[in-house]
Amino acid sequence: ELADEEAKRAEAAKKALKEKDYAPAPPEWVLQPPITKGGLAEKFRTGKCLGKGGFAICYEGELRNKGRGAGKTIFALKIVKTYMSLKKMEDKVDLELMSQFRTELQIHAKMRHPNIVEFHRAFTFKDSTYVVLELCSNGSIMDMVKKRRCLTLPEVRRLTVQLCGAIKYMHARNVIHRDLKMGNLFLDHDMNLKIGDFGLAAVLVSKHEYQGLYDQKSRRTTLCGTPNYIAPEILEKGKGGHDHKVDIWAIGVIMFAMLVGQPPFQAASQNEIYRKARGVEYDWPEKNKHFNDIPEEAKDLVARLLKVDAEERPDPDQVVGHPFFSMHGGDAMPMVMEEYFCREFP
Ligand code: ADP
Repeated sequence: ELADEEAKRAEAAKKALKEKDYAPAPPEWVLQPPITKGGLAEKFRTGKCLGKGGFAICYEGELRNKGRGAGKTIFALKIVKTYMSLKKMEDKVDLELMSQFRTELQIHAKMRHPNIVEFHRAFTFKDSTYVVLELCSNGSIMDMVKKRRCLTLPEVRRLTVQLCGAIKYMHARNVIHRDLKMGNLFLDHDMNLKIGDFGLAAVLVSKHEYQGLYDQKSRRTTLCGTPNYIAPEILEKGKGGHDHKVDIWAIGVIMFAMLVGQPPFQAASQNEIYRKARGVEYDWPEKNKHFNDIPEEAKDLVARLLKVDAEERPDPDQVVGHPFFSMHGGDAMPMVMEEYFCREFP
C-alpha cells in the first residue's frame, strides 16, 4: 500500500510539473470589459485547468460580481494562445488562423441549444483572447470511453439522441460542424452531451461554397487526434464537394466507437485509415470490451450512417426513428425521445 501511495505521489508530481511546463498560470483575475457603455466590468477568478488543446488552454472561471444576485457562476474560460493575438496579425499564416478563429466565434455565438456548449462572450484581456463558455465539468465522451472502455446501450442511445438533436438544430441553420468526434463532445454536470469546438464549422452556401475555411492542411490536428472521422467525400477532393452529410457520417463513427471502444477505421497510418474509410472497411468484434453482444439493430444503424453515397445517409429524424432506439422494450424511451422532440430553439 505504501508503495502504491508513493507511486501515486510521484505520478501527481510529474503531472504537476508537466502542467506547469505547458500551461503557464493564467492571471488570477480576468477582467471582462463592460458590455454597455458606462456598464460595469465583470471579474472572473481563474481556477483549475480544464484541459489543453492545440489552440487553447481552458480554465475554470468564477464570475464574481458585487450586487448581482446570490450564488457564484462557474464558466469555462478558454484562453486562446498568444500567437493568435492581434499582435501577430501581419503574419499571413496567423491571418488565416485569425479568420478561421473569427468564423468559429461567429458561428458558435449564434448557436443556442441544450446540447451545444453555450457561448457567453469573447473578449480581449492582456493580449489574449478569452472565450467564456458553459462549463462542462465531466470532460468529453473520449475521456468517458477511455475510462470505461466502451459504453452501455442505454448510454449510447441517450448520447446519440442528444447528439442528433443538436445536429438537427445546426443543419436547419445551414451550419456544418465538420469536426464531430468524441473529444469534441463534452459532458456537463448532469452528463448531458454538449457539442463544442466549432473550429472547423462553416455555413453552407452551396456544396462548394462555404463561409469559413477548410482544407486538409489547415485541419487542426492534435497529438492524439486521428483522422478517424473524415467522410469519404472530403477525401475525394475536387470531385463533388461535401455538405452537411459529413456530420451524419461522423455520427456513425462515434456510435461505433462508443459501442466497441475504438473507432471503426483503425490503422497504423493515416493513409491506411483513409483507404479503409473510402472502402467502408470495418469489422464488428464478436463481443465488445465488456464482453457484451452488440445488437443487430445497432449494427444496422451504423451501416446506414456509414454510406459512401452521402445522399443515402439518414437525417437526424430518421436516425432517432431507427429500431435501435425502441428495442429492449424501449423502457428508457419516453424520456429520451422527449429530449429530442420537445425542444424548439430560435
Ligand atoms: P482547441 O480548439 O485548441 O482544440 P478545445 O476547444 O479542444 O481547444 O479545448 C481544449 C480543452 O479544454 C479540451 O480538450 C477540454 O479538456 C477543455 N475544454 C474546452 N471547452 C470546455 C468546456 N466548455 N468545459 C470544460 N472543459 C472544456
